[in-house]
Amino acid sequence: MFKNEYLQKVYAEVEARNAGEKEFLQAVREVLESLEVYVEKHPELEQWGVLERLVEPERFIQFRVSWMDDAGKVHVNRGYRVQFNSAIGPYKGGLRLHPSVNASVIKFLGFEQIFKNSLTGLPMGGGKGGSDFDPKGKSDAEIMRFCQSFMTELSKHIGQFTDVPAGDIGVGAREIGYMFGQYKRLRNEVTGVLTGKGLAYGGSLARTEATGYGLCYFTEEALNCMKNDSFQGKTVVISGSGNVAIFATEKATQLGGKVVALSDSNGYIYDKDGINLDLVKEIKLVRRGRIKEYVNQVPSAEYHEGCSGIWSIPCDIALPCATQNEIDEASAKLLVANGCKVVCEGANMPSTPEAINVYLENGVLYGPAKAANAGGVATSGLEMSQNSLRLSWTFEEVDERLKGIMKNIFHNAFDASKACGVEGNLMVGANVAGFIKVADAMLAQGIAY
Ligand code: GLU
Repeated sequence: MFKNEYLQKVYAEVEARNAGEKEFLQAVREVLESLEVYVEKHPELEQWGVLERLVEPERFIQFRVSWMDDAGKVHVNRGYRVQFNSAIGPYKGGLRLHPSVNASVIKFLGFEQIFKNSLTGLPMGGGKGGSDFDPKGKSDAEIMRFCQSFMTELSKHIGQFTDVPAGDIGVGAREIGYMFGQYKRLRNEVTGVLTGKGLAYGGSLARTEATGYGLCYFTEEALNCMKNDSFQGKTVVISGSGNVAIFATEKATQLGGKVVALSDSNGYIYDKDGINLDLVKEIKLVRRGRIKEYVNQVPSAEYHEGCSGIWSIPCDIALPCATQNEIDEASAKLLVANGCKVVCEGANMPSTPEAINVYLENGVLYGPAKAANAGGVATSGLEMSQNSLRLSWTFEEVDERLKGIMKNIFHNAFDASKACGVEGNLMVGANVAGFIKVADAMLAQGIAY
């Protein structure tokens, strides 16, 4: 329930209009709840319908993607792009290829992206897209044909000044390459229309590492400022084994932490001596294999089927980097009971609302996704800058900027939490800090009538 009547009314409308879309409603509810204090002080938001406009995408595109498998059979998938909010810049956000993708998932991701992108301080609006296509087990040629077919339709709706997609789950450098190639073929135009591109054709150094590194920079700054502490000597559990998890492992280790677990959608590995990251990179990035293959080469490590068991491993810091709602109330309680003091999110919305309550009630330092994982899209913004300048910065230069952005995000969220009377509640702080800039831009730009 909302104490503020305006918020209550807006949420009721969203619920009625998006019935059954549980991920989207979950994301909207969290943001609206965080805004109570701010909205009370700003009646102009109601007069100008800012929240009603904010929760309704500017555009939602759904399309058919037909593609041919290696045996010559045609399959049909559903493609999406939500262009949620362009108040502060062109729509920006990744593309997700996963069987769980539907309208609700795309809208929750697009909605989160509005605030995340705003927090980076760069001029990027919020968008997201993807398809229910399952890349698992597909050949390289099948992936290429799917990506080309997907881009054939998507290309009608995007552009360097309109909407700039990137990767997300199931979309890495290979997929971006195929999509970029198809865009170029169709439009006869070489622009930075996608980010996460290969270095040979306009990509940015440090973009691959950025989400995972940024997550650790944010966590280190939060530890420093809120607990006078650091990664040094900490035991860290990280879920996932994609780009985000791998480079979070790398940076957490460089900062003195010991990462003891990683997972994929089948199960998790536990290596009490600390994960051998070179081996994981070989398995996941080079061979595109499964995480359980790790124990073939490290017999002292354990492999367990199923994903949620990873949260029963005792740790000081947990970095969920797999997918939405991967930590529920029971898992959060287990983490706390086993001594976990910090949860910072590399995945988007990996904690259920009940899990977040467990963190807040137990004094866990909680870094919400839209702040903690913003390093990926921030570096996408830096890739766009480099494309516009027609030059490339060094790894060190991009990494330094990323570090600065992540520190800033922490301080903006922390300061906003203080201003709202809930010092240290970074969920409220991130939502409010991200919102203010977007709301101000929406107010400044008026409405067409
Ligand atoms: N998919 C990433 C995210 O969730 C990155 C988006 C981008 O670089 O545009 O923020």
